[in-house]
Amino acid sequence: MAKKVTVNKDLCIGCGACAATAPSVFAIADDGKADVIVPEVGEADEGACRDAAANCPAAAIEIA
Ligand code: SF4
Repeated sequence: MAKKVTVNKDLCIGCGACAATAPSVFAIADDGKADVIVPEVGEADEGACRDAAANCPAAAIEIA
């Protein structure tokens, strides 16, 4: 089932790790913080997304 992924910009420090781990889901935006670039994450990207969330140094990524 598709998952909704969000980045809490108040927590994000713009390190870029999520965009490196799951480039089809995350990108660093003009504000220097991560954006989720897809409305929902499918099964193919879910593993990378969970890795990104687990490795985010600011614990800014939520997967619902
Ligand atoms: Fe922001 Fe976390 Fe992504 Fe780093 S890994 S850019 S802190 S959301």
